Amino acid sequence: MRLSRSLIPTLKETPAEAQIVSHRLMLRAGLIRQQSAGIYAWLPAGLRVLHNIANIVREEQARAGSQEILMPTIQSAELWRESGRYDAYGPEMLRIRDRHDREMLYGPTNEEMLTAIMRDSVQSYRDLPQMLYQIQWKFRDEVRPRFGVLRGREFYMKDGYSFDLDYEGAVESYRRMMLAYMRTFKRMGVRAVPMRADTGPIGGNLSHEFHILAPTGESGVFYDSSFETIELGDDAYDYEARADLDAFFDRMTSLYAATDEKHDEAAWAKVPEDRRREGRGIEVGQIFYFGTKYSQAMNFTVVGPDGARLHPEMGSYGIGVSRLTGAIIEASHDEAGIIWPDAIAPFRASILNLRQGDQVTDALCERIYDALGRDALYDDREARAGEKFADADLMGHPWQVIVGPRGAAKGQVELKHRRTGERAELDIESALAKVR
Ligand code: ATP
Ligand code: MG
Ligand code: MG
Ligand code: MG
Repeated sequence: MRLSRSLIPTLKETPAEAQIVSHRLMLRAGLIRQQSAGIYAWLPAGLRVLHNIANIVREEQARAGSQEILMPTIQSAELWRESGRYDAYGPEMLRIRDRHDREMLYGPTNEEMLTAIMRDSVQSYRDLPQMLYQIQWKFRDEVRPRFGVLRGREFYMKDGYSFDLDYEGAVESYRRMMLAYMRTFKRMGVRAVPMRADTGPIGGNLSHEFHILAPTGESGVFYDSSFETIELGDDAYDYEARADLDAFFDRMTSLYAATDEKHDEAAWAKVPEDRRREGRGIEVGQIFYFGTKYSQAMNFTVVGPDGARLHPEMGSYGIGVSRLTGAIIEASHDEAGIIWPDAIAPFRASILNLRQGDQVTDALCERIYDALGRDALYDDREARAGEKFADADLMGHPWQVIVGPRGAAKGQVELKHRRTGERAELDIESALAKVR
């Protein structure tokens, strides 16, 4: 994209309403704009990040054997009355009436809807197990929407659901998702630690949250410092081998990690003192096993192998896709701006033309821009070099290809790596080879 023709409205000033660094940087880098409390529009560069995150989620869900679907954002109150959650959910649920005075709601999660779909579609034990997910907007009327997209009211979530015949199968699905989640976060270039967690309004008795460690996190967490260094998203494990799923789960859960609600002093005391860490985390995902809670309440049964009807065992699995954009920035930035991990950066590279209008410089920039195509953001604005440097650091693309008249005359550019700050004078082909 050419910056001169793009809606990437960067800001020099720090927006007064933003309390934490990721919110400030998302506004300053022109990724989002607030529409009302906790409700944001995603501008072109921000949407690229959101899509990159969603696509990693998609690829890893597919690898783990989950099928993608898309359910509506608006749900009927009837569905939620069946599970008993319509009244229980409270003021966090946005309730709506249509023109016929029917009670509707903007979905905060989808256990009921998918249970109803399965009830209509699946009759036999032969149709199970199944795993399905969607990536869809949710609405929760949070008491205190804050920190930008970290706690929005409208937010983008991956929500997945598993249906198994028995407890053993459900546990396998749960472990499969834990492995998928660890691989997903690893590919995004962040460390997310799996922690024993409370189940809250979803219900059930087994749950883990995935936390990116950051001082601005809203959750108190206790963990073994080994989680700061061990391999988290290992490729050595095979989804098709139950023993692998069990081994991975055991490895992740044998080290202590718990949110403050689940903190257990007795177990904590057994962690060697020099490895005890107490800090803050941003919850970027959570997985739940809740058995037959919804299949019973909503009367979803299948015919079992012996002819008797049974209630499928369920779990659900969430990832905060929009929250991750902010959480990753909390974990990866410096005073100058965002430092995007390669896999989710809106662009691979910024091309900085330091002498816009100079024939040789322009021509060289165009050549590089042609070669990089949609992976590059070409700063072709009539602006001072200092402004271009500052904006490139702020936007945080992994590479900066800096083109000035002196180098251009020799067919050379300066290549800067945003994360390390390393710079090198290179001919175009070598620079392109590094960026691509
Ligand atoms: P929190 O504890 O932060 O309120 P939650 O436990 O209520 O989150 P879940 O029901 O577990 O949320 O939803 C799955 C994921 O959706 C969360 O792990 C989080 O990453 C994301 N999420 C939840 N609420 C919000 C929100 N208000 N804004 C952005 N993302 C959210
Ligand atoms: Mg919540
Ligand atoms: Mg929570
Ligand atoms: Mg949660």
